Amino acid sequence: MPTYLGMPAFPEAARTAVADSQLRRNLTHATHTIRAKRAGAVAELSDWEQLRQAAKAIKDHTLAHLDTYLLRLEENVTKAGGQVHWARDAAEANAVVAGLVRQAGADRVVKVKSMATQEIGLNEALAAQGIKAKETDLAELIVQLGHDLPSHILVPAIHKNRAEIREIFRREMPGAPPGLTDEPAALAAAARAHLRQEFLAAKVGISGANFAIADTGSLVVVESEGNGRMCVTLPETLISVVGIEKILPSWRDLEVFLALLPRSSTAERMNPYTSIWTGVHDVDGPKVFHLVLVDNGRTASLADGTGRQALRCIRCSACLNVCPVYERTGGHAYGSPYPGPIGAIISPQLRGLDSAADRSLPFASTLCGACYEVCPVAINIPEALVHLRAKVKHPWPERTVFHLSGQVLASPRRLAAVQRMASASRRIVGRSGRIRRLPPPVSGWTQTRDAPAPPPESFRAWWLRTRGRG
Ligand code: SF4
Repeated sequence: MPTYLGMPAFPEAARTAVADSQLRRNLTHATHTIRAKRAGAVAELSDWEQLRQAAKAIKDHTLAHLDTYLLRLEENVTKAGGQVHWARDAAEANAVVAGLVRQAGADRVVKVKSMATQEIGLNEALAAQGIKAKETDLAELIVQLGHDLPSHILVPAIHKNRAEIREIFRREMPGAPPGLTDEPAALAAAARAHLRQEFLAAKVGISGANFAIADTGSLVVVESEGNGRMCVTLPETLISVVGIEKILPSWRDLEVFLALLPRSSTAERMNPYTSIWTGVHDVDGPKVFHLVLVDNGRTASLADGTGRQALRCIRCSACLNVCPVYERTGGHAYGSPYPGPIGAIISPQLRGLDSAADRSLPFASTLCGACYEVCPVAINIPEALVHLRAKVKHPWPERTVFHLSGQVLASPRRLAAVQRMASASRRIVGRSGRIRRLPPPVSGWTQTRDAPAPPPESFRAWWLRTRGRG
């Protein structure tokens, strides 16, 4: 299975992606369809903005008292017969899960789609221990069978069209019908038949959780296909790997999020399956339940006054579907399981700014603000992007340009002089009204677009000429 490790920086990865016309067609079609449906579903609710502000307030309150709610969750999960494990980072979380699978005497597990397990690279870590993890969400299954990587939070195989999916099934799925067509119903039926045996044979199920309720120790998974319900009810042992920010204080809070999440993600009034479980029971469900609570950079993010708002994210993916950058590059260019606008802020926060890929992500945006407008928990992504940009150490040409710009903008006299020089240069550099090539260190600007030529006269010069100083 490929991983995101060692991915190139965003500009390099994006260059490859935008050159793929089939990928761009697939993405444009899919994002525009989901975007329009979401807008319709949201417009049905007259109190959408109030719900959004309520969600923001609940998340902010919970994050401000995270220690209290996490301990309450642990206490209530334990009371209900579950066992809680704490993992500081990905390596600890993977080691805990691998140990628990071995303890259950299994070498195969079935999985519910989970961003947290992708973040920590659980499938690869289990494979290294000889444990096979089977994805059961249809899109995740397509990605897994295609030896590919997810490229969208909600629709991991958004970069594939149905003809490409049929080819993957024919090539990689044991028992795929020989005459398989690319009709969605036929593809879904093939996947269902393939997965049925896996569900029935699995001793261990692995899930994430959309929400964890501190007051009762309950875990919540929302999904559309029913595969999640099978994974959390059929196997004898259930292991849920959950980021520490997924917590909500009470059932009452959940109500707000169950109204916001389906409309923002799949444009449904209500998601088809909402599975909720609390510990273990004699009559049905798993007999053993483990909750692995993962930090993996979240505490550091929480300490950042501006960056912490990213922890409000409920992974609905609405910001991806409206982002003009994501629409053109797709998710792989972001080098992380979290693509799009939320990925551009959360990946550098969770992983740090040490790699070229993570340093490039805060710049993978036009700052148009469309992501902020649709976010159901009102994360000001442009604000967080600018905040992260300020932390990145820029290469010397950029530092020089910023320094000189600062010097010029700090003095009206210097600014006027530079404006006069720019207007005078128009005769040489921009006779057509456009500058096709700028010299270093600003040559990057004209690599893929023209720069507008400076106007013949600045606004200040025009004002002085037409109105005088008074
Ligand atoms: S940042 Fe907001 S819009 Fe984007 S995935 Fe998270 S909750 Fe959804």
